[in-house]
Amino acid sequence: MKREQLRHHPAYAALSPDEQLAIDERLEGWHLDAPAVAATTGGVAELDVSDLRFWLASTARRPWAMISLCDQPEQATAIFEGLLAAVPGLADHRERPKLVVLARDMSRALVVADSARREQGFVRDEQLAALCDQIDKLERVEPRWRDESVVAILRVAKLEELANALVDYTRSTRGVQGFLSRVGARVSTKLFDLVHGGLYLATGDAEHEGHYEHGEWTNWTANYRARPAAYLCPSNEDELCGAIAKAPELRVVGGGHSFNDGPLCPGHMISLDAYGRILDIDPNRKIARVQAGIRLRDLNKALWEASLGLPVLGSTDSQSLGGLVATDLHGTGRDAGFLSEQILSLRVIAADGVAQTVRPGDPLFHAAIGAIGTCGVVSEVELQLVDAFHLEKVTQMVDRAHAESSIDGLLRANDHISFYYIGGADEAEAVRVHQWNRTSAPLTPKWEKLKTRNELSDFAVSAFVPGLAKRIADIDEDAWLSDLVAPDSTLVMPGSRGFGRKLFYRHDEIEFGVPFERYQSCLAQILALLSVEEFFSVVEVRFTPDRSQSLIGPGAGRRSAYIELATPLSQDHERVFAKAEEIMREHEGQPHLGKKTNVSAQDMLEIHGDRFVQFQAVRAAQDPGGKFLNAFTQRVLGG
Ligand SMILES: Cc1cc2nc3c(=O)[nH]c(=O)nc-3n(C[C@H](O)[C@H](O)[C@H](O)COP(=O)(O)OP(=O)(O)OC[C@H]3O[C@@H](n4cnc5c(N)ncnc54)[C@H](O)[C@@H]3O)c2cc1C
Repeated sequence: MKREQLRHHPAYAALSPDEQLAIDERLEGWHLDAPAVAATTGGVAELDVSDLRFWLASTARRPWAMISLCDQPEQATAIFEGLLAAVPGLADHRERPKLVVLARDMSRALVVADSARREQGFVRDEQLAALCDQIDKLERVEPRWRDESVVAILRVAKLEELANALVDYTRSTRGVQGFLSRVGARVSTKLFDLVHGGLYLATGDAEHEGHYEHGEWTNWTANYRARPAAYLCPSNEDELCGAIAKAPELRVVGGGHSFNDGPLCPGHMISLDAYGRILDIDPNRKIARVQAGIRLRDLNKALWEASLGLPVLGSTDSQSLGGLVATDLHGTGRDAGFLSEQILSLRVIAADGVAQTVRPGDPLFHAAIGAIGTCGVVSEVELQLVDAFHLEKVTQMVDRAHAESSIDGLLRANDHISFYYIGGADEAEAVRVHQWNRTSAPLTPKWEKLKTRNELSDFAVSAFVPGLAKRIADIDEDAWLSDLVAPDSTLVMPGSRGFGRKLFYRHDEIEFGVPFERYQSCLAQILALLSVEEFFSVVEVRFTPDRSQSLIGPGAGRRSAYIELATPLSQDHERVFAKAEEIMREHEGQPHLGKKTNVSAQDMLEIHGDRFVQFQAVRAAQDPGGKFLNAFTQRVLGG
């Protein structure tokens, strides 16, 4: 819809001439794209005069940020007016314009949270944390806008349940009760880590994986759970297609290694654990065709035995191939960075149970990669392989300033590179760098034992003694403490094992891909945030070329750097993750949908633009009735 067309819309005609003029000015240079609006809202037809008025009164530049409120404009207005009424003498207030904008934003955020509550039946902790944060900001500007006054205003606006959720959340996170519940959570997480760390030492296998037991499915960190009405494990295509066709609502699960509620479903959950066979390996053409339930570690093992491999991998190998496709797995690399670069074809089963095989160039191929299962269940993957190779991994503590100023040279000189920053360190001088290069050198004797030893020392420092990790980052990289606790190492390993590490302590992650050119400024702000908040987190930084095959993946459409916060579960992270997300968004960040994120469908449209519109068109064709939607996918991709 062009601006001219909006002028013929009944909602526009109902405005006063002054309001129409204001709308015209606001729309100057803005193209109101009907499919884009329809993708994230009820559609342009739903546009109401109150939407246009709300938009005019808000700071939002784009119309659909306001259209999403059209089902509750009265409450938004009531909260807005309640907030203004709480500040007597506002008309003469020195900072009136700023206060009005803050009140608008707050009322909008509260109504959006309430819409989510009505859809999902609850408000997510991340969203409550972000609201509390916003209320704190309000209070700093105007002391009369306290928690209690916002809660009272919500009650007057008849948003009783949201008010209760806010009260419960603040009680459990602040004051004595909050303190006790935080201590309890930390102790139980540390105990959990200790037991699993011990098991790892004793058996070499921590078995952190999603699983289904006694009617309940849990993810790898056991912090997301569901009791589905049916949990199915089909083992052939007829069964799989039949199960998909019959399910009223459905999510598919792989290794449960994602960090959000994406896999959860109260209806049917389908596991591809019994659908993980290698169908064919052609050593001459270096091509493998496999079922999507296979775990990466099993695929890697079989490929290594056939003297073949994948050129780049992520940091663990417990995921299913389908889960990796569904989140567009990235590793780090100069010339290659994504699993999706190696995919020759995908078999995808739509909501009606019909399967089709698609190749690069087909819109469904690119939509299904990174779609978190909303464009259909990925059931088979055909992969282009390379000859098996040895990989040398060098790990060092290096001078941070030097590493950052010579980043271009470092990236050129190495096949793959990543950094571990220790967030929360005050004046981090040192950073841990990992460099991987293919080599013809023989494998390091006892490489497996040495690899385990390195991972255990990382585990001890990162999960148990964050204070020590901070101290190491704050001192010179050549200091004795650094050499003792984080010694440099060089290992030559099989390419199939060299990228991944065994991560056997529970943690949460948020990760965004940002344009390569902007990553240092984004990283500096993230590290400053962690320092101000005195918040410990490992911050991993990786890089990929512009080669993602996904329409909505974190690295889609550009050369990227990834900034990831990997935070032990014993840290209270919601509030800080929400702030970190704001910083990443300000740096044009694109979320990794296998990890924590607060983005909405509107945000995704702003982030990915035309690619998101194309994605939504494919999704609508594959799943017209919204069978693959759950609370997470609905929030992130729209209904
Ligand atoms: C320790 C650790 C390290 C990680 N390292 C990296 C990394 O280096 N790079 C990176 O990009 N990510 C990384 N991740 C994230 C992880 O790769 C993704 O979350 C991935 O989706 C997990 O795969 P899974 O089989 O466990 O999927 P699940 O957690 O089971 O599912 C993830 C999502 O994909 C959907 N899905 C699963 N299978 C299918 C299918 N067959 N068809 C369609 N949809 C499906 C699910 O519904 C869900 O929404 C890491 C995660 C962990 C825990």
